[in-house]
Amino acid sequence: MQKKCIVCGKIFNSKNGVITCSHECYLVRKREHYARGNFTRYSGQKKTKKCPVCKKIFYIEKKHLIYCSVECREIATKEKKKKYFKNYYEDNKGKIIERVKRNNKKTI
Ligand SMILES: [Zn+2]
Ligand SMILES: [Zn+2]
Repeated sequence: MQKKCIVCGKIFNSKNGVITCSHECYLVRKREHYARGNFTRYSGQKKTKKCPVCKKIFYIEKKHLIYCSVECREIATKEKKKKYFKNYYEDNKGKIIERVKRNNKKTI
């Protein structure tokens, strides 16, 4: 398949979806890709967030961080599970009881 090299723009015969014409272009592309990756990773300014568990203000380096510490995260997940289970139980009380009864019958 004829393809245009994304690095030097040369038309070349591409095998297996290769997007660069030569090993040299491949290395250039790889280096650029890597540099871009590093740039986005370190360009972000530090942001502060309030921990929903202990209400402490803390700096986040990773976007997905919500809690200030592992401890707070554990507390939060435990609380969430408890709450989730309670809601689930309230919503499906009838079904759960039904199922338990049925299971009991089976075992007897
Ligand atoms: Zn090339
Ligand atoms: Zn906390």
